[in-house]
Amino acid sequence: MKSKRILVTGGAGFLGSHLCERLVRGGHDVICLDNYFTGRKKNVEHLMDFHNFELMRHDITFPIFVEVDQVYNLACPASPVHYQHNAVKTIKTSVMGAINVLGLAKRVKARVLQASTSEIYGDPTQHPQQETYWGNVNPIGFRSCYDEGKRVAETLFFDYHRMNDVDIRIMRIFNTYGPRMHPDDGRVVSNFIVQALKNNDITVYGDGSQTRSFCYVDDLIEGMIRLMNKDGFNGPVNVGNPGEFTIKELAEKVIELVGSSSMVIYKPLPSDDPRQRRPDITLAKEKLDWQPEIKLEQGLRKTIKYFKDNLD
Ligand code: NAD
Ligand code: UDP
Repeated sequence: MKSKRILVTGGAGFLGSHLCERLVRGGHDVICLDNYFTGRKKNVEHLMDFHNFELMRHDITFPIFVEVDQVYNLACPASPVHYQHNAVKTIKTSVMGAINVLGLAKRVKARVLQASTSEIYGDPTQHPQQETYWGNVNPIGFRSCYDEGKRVAETLFFDYHRMNDVDIRIMRIFNTYGPRMHPDDGRVVSNFIVQALKNNDITVYGDGSQTRSFCYVDDLIEGMIRLMNKDGFNGPVNVGNPGEFTIKELAEKVIELVGSSSMVIYKPLPSDDPRQRRPDITLAKEKLDWQPEIKLEQGLRKTIKYFKDNLD
């Protein structure tokens, strides 16, 4: 592929750092933009010596002007603990961030990909979730700053596309895990692994019968790059692993793989916590020739190794 100038917002975060790495190694000129709210310079420090990698401290709620061919818009805290920490800032990041990257894409005629989410579907009444489903989202709850912010962002992407012919891509990402997740971000995979490694209690919220479908980061990034470079297809498209597990099953699997003496304890279920979630990936298979390769156990082993090597 010809070398491109690429902006990655949220590039120092978990997914962003893996994306930057793939793009830099692919020979592209990469600008990693981040305000370091949940991201860390450490996530990209191994890229600093590459001449085709640049780091830019910037808050995406403010306009930006750079000459680029592609924009991946990942800037937004993703874990419920982090995005609820400052709910107003979260929704501003999704909405004003979308306006700013779309304005940029319009001016410089760049293609722009939005990292959207399965939260678009809320607590889904359709299972598995297809892209045609409009969702079941509480507009005034604790998760709304994230869910509704991401929904407005999708609306803005399609409006800029229809009104200004901006070349958009929308990817609905389902729960993704792997190395460089923040150990304190409160997401279930990182929480369970850190707890298991420290032989602390494993905190299952509710009775643990709610389900999620977990995608390993390398599979996800492959899908993201394919979507960006696919001509004539805007999405939205689900990208995730259809393997569905209860949270209790995940807890047991992590304890087994770590060889931990942790016990499972039960805590109250947070409000509006979706009961079930599994992507229908028929569209991704058809349009992107993409499907995940890495099974949960294999991905968990790699992630456990990362946390083992990096925990103080
Ligand atoms: P993350 O929190 O590790 O990364 C988000 C990055 O955005 C961080 O580096 C953070 O510092 C940066 N950021 C936040 N607000 C910003 C702002 N105002 N200006 C500039 N940078 C800002 O989370 P992640 O898991 O890497 O998620 C990346 C994107 O993918 C997010 O948009 C998220 O909503 C989306 N997503 C992730 C998942 C998942 O399971 N990981 C699922 C669905 C959607
Ligand atoms: N969860 C849990 N224990 C934890 C963290 C999360 O049981 O220590 C549950 C949470 O209630 C939810 C699921 O795991 O049902 C996934 O949570 P996460 O925050 O990772 O993502 P999301 O809810 O956004 O899918």
